[in-house]
Amino acid sequence: MKAARRALITGINGQDGILLSDHLSKNGYEILGIGTQEGKSSFLNPSVGYQKIDIRDTATFTSVVDSFTPDSIYNLASISSVARSFEKPELTWEVNGYAVANILESLFGKAHHPNLKFFQASSSEMFGLAAVEPQDEEVVFHPVSPYAESKVFALESCRKYRKQGYFVASGIMYNHESIYRPKSFVTRKITSGVAAIKKGEQSTLQIGNMYAERDWGYAGDYVEAMALILHANEPDDFVISTGITHSVKDIVTIAFDEAGLGGRELEFLELDEGLLRPKEVNRLVGNSTKAYEKLGWKSQKTFEQLIREMVRYDLSAK
Ligand code: GDP
Repeated sequence: MKAARRALITGINGQDGILLSDHLSKNGYEILGIGTQEGKSSFLNPSVGYQKIDIRDTATFTSVVDSFTPDSIYNLASISSVARSFEKPELTWEVNGYAVANILESLFGKAHHPNLKFFQASSSEMFGLAAVEPQDEEVVFHPVSPYAESKVFALESCRKYRKQGYFVASGIMYNHESIYRPKSFVTRKITSGVAAIKKGEQSTLQIGNMYAERDWGYAGDYVEAMALILHANEPDDFVISTGITHSVKDIVTIAFDEAGLGGRELEFLELDEGLLRPKEVNRLVGNSTKAYEKLGWKSQKTFEQLIREMVRYDLSAK
């Protein structure tokens, strides 16, 4: 019998790690997850293996690759909050940037694993204040946060090894959300906050910039794009987005409506200036034509379906 294909996923305990490991498990993959927490998330399938490793520890990481011998690595580990990256720029650069370059050098530069396929989770934040809209793969990056800077550095490193002939690919992913999104991100903060208000557990909801606009998609659709990117014939970078923007205010409107509190937002919302960012990206919108033409991928779940589902989950959660 042919041995199962193996995938190693860093950042396994995060939203995308959980959803990607489900998707790959269903497709017959054996999975080893890596994270920095003591144990693995209770949302992960029991069949998913787990090791506690900091991806900055290149030697340990490489030794795990040597023993697990994966066909593919999905690098999802990162300091994922833009807001936090302003507070901890050094850590953000180390984890999201240098660690990736070090791993690539160890796997490919030192030619330890020339046949591995490597996926890098890149971010729409790299476009930052880009003058062009919608953004596709040709648009010049204009990062304005340590998070975005670190992701640009990692992607440039990926491109370097790709030019040398290795299968190093990337998804430039716009904001993607699900019930696994931590409450520090604005979608889940709002859906969980509205549910808590409805249940009488909370009386106000503090929000920062209500007018920021993002291209929000469903994370379950985005992890499918990651797998397609690694199964393409050639390694490349792909913008993964819905092509439609909404504002933070739109999330609020839909979430209050789903909870049966439609039109009563102003009774509960409070502007918290502490939540405004030192430098804000006001609006992002992506163009995923290349992903559609080359991978057959397009986003499926609408923004409204997504927000309503997240509210229903938070209303039913204990
Ligand atoms: P990001 O786009 O990766 O930074 O994802 P977030 O969900 O953290 O933020 C999306 C947008 O929502 C940004 O423009 C934030 O400034 C804005 N925003 C407004 N209020 C809040 C809030 O209370 N928390 C967070 N995280 N973002 C907020």
